[in-house]
Amino acid sequence: MSSSPPDKNAASDLVSLADQCVLCGLCLPACPTYRVAQTEAESPRGRITMAKALATGTLLPESGAAAHIDHCLHCLSCERACPSGVQYGRLIGLQRRLTAMAPGRLQRFAYALVARPRWLHRMARLSNGLRLARWLSPLARRCGRDRTGIGRWIALIPPLPTLSGLDNVASAPRGRGRIGLFLGCVASAFDRDTHAAARILLAALGYEVVEPPAQGCCGALAQHAGHVEIAATLAAATGSAFATSGVGTVLVSASGCYASLRDRVFRGSAIAVREISEFLAADPLFTALPFAALPLRAALHNPCSLNNEVRAASAARELLQHIPQLHIADTPTQPRCCGAGGTHFLRYPELADPLRDERLDQVEALGAELLLTSNIGCRLHLAGGLRTRGRTIEVLHPITLLARQLKKRRDSPTPSLPSHQATS
Ligand code: SF4
Ligand code: SF4
Repeated sequence: MSSSPPDKNAASDLVSLADQCVLCGLCLPACPTYRVAQTEAESPRGRITMAKALATGTLLPESGAAAHIDHCLHCLSCERACPSGVQYGRLIGLQRRLTAMAPGRLQRFAYALVARPRWLHRMARLSNGLRLARWLSPLARRCGRDRTGIGRWIALIPPLPTLSGLDNVASAPRGRGRIGLFLGCVASAFDRDTHAAARILLAALGYEVVEPPAQGCCGALAQHAGHVEIAATLAAATGSAFATSGVGTVLVSASGCYASLRDRVFRGSAIAVREISEFLAADPLFTALPFAALPLRAALHNPCSLNNEVRAASAARELLQHIPQLHIADTPTQPRCCGAGGTHFLRYPELADPLRDERLDQVEALGAELLLTSNIGCRLHLAGGLRTRGRTIEVLHPITLLARQLKKRRDSPTPSLPSHQATS
């Protein structure tokens, strides 16, 4: 049963977008699911053809075509590779909206949780405290009650991040205005070290950081499932939390939330959204911050969202170059995605795990002692793979490493602020 009546406009918009595809196939080498499956049905061209056939009724929903479309990671590498400018992201969004089922019990529970990130954090603490991942997951599998994959979900609940090394209180005089910090839903529990790092770096640059307590989810998870009304409700709640906070810019450290904040939460608003690495790299005062040397080799994995949505793939690298003696090794372009893709890695491990394994083999071949990536989904997925391999390589957001290495004020003062840099 569909969650809403069939939307004729959505179907005709989808057909118009699909008709722009000339079937050249130049997007195929960029597609991570095609890389794993090597079939047309798992390629962007195949998905466009199937989405159009489903929208026009040439293919029936029972044909299995929707499952191949659902395997899409929404990485948008195909959109960047397409010489005809096909808007794949819009097209697939319309397709999911047309075929979305009403959310089931588990999904409704998940949406209630993401709307209240504090609950999510408490549950993660409880799960960590009771070591649920260690005993409940094998039990669920043994009892044969793991058809929903819940055992895998539980097994993947990672340890909550420690905030060690993030006690730096170095700050410049606050003269540069107020800046909003978006905490997100899953990220508010599992990316707390990144948020602590953001506060440290922004304070060192002279910003007053504002975090409205009523903020929640950006709506991306519901949107990707085709539940547009739920996504809009979640986005509106977060938008209103920031609307009265007196900030002109909101920073996001989980690059996977960036597009949703830009296109839904702050669309039409006076508030601008910026990805934090890109924001810091553009700050002229950042170059004056003092960082302690770190003689280590770090692999840098750029998430698809940073490459294809923010389009600031070089920002994290630019920032990390300020840490003396840190050797930054870029991971190869292929595979273009680590397989995380929102909840894709939980729902389709057979497609996600080969991509993750390929990336982790590259990280190990680089001899990396640290793995840096700026999206929480990639971090959880890659860290889960390293735990499975028994490797102790730490996986961090680039700004967490920067905040750890920022010299404390008593060691070296943070830069003073020329009056022309003050913002309102
Ligand atoms: S989406 Fe673009 S690159 Fe891919 S087959 Fe169609 S026209 Fe070619
Ligand atoms: S968005 Fe990514 S996974 Fe989906 S078809 Fe395009 S390249 Fe493939």
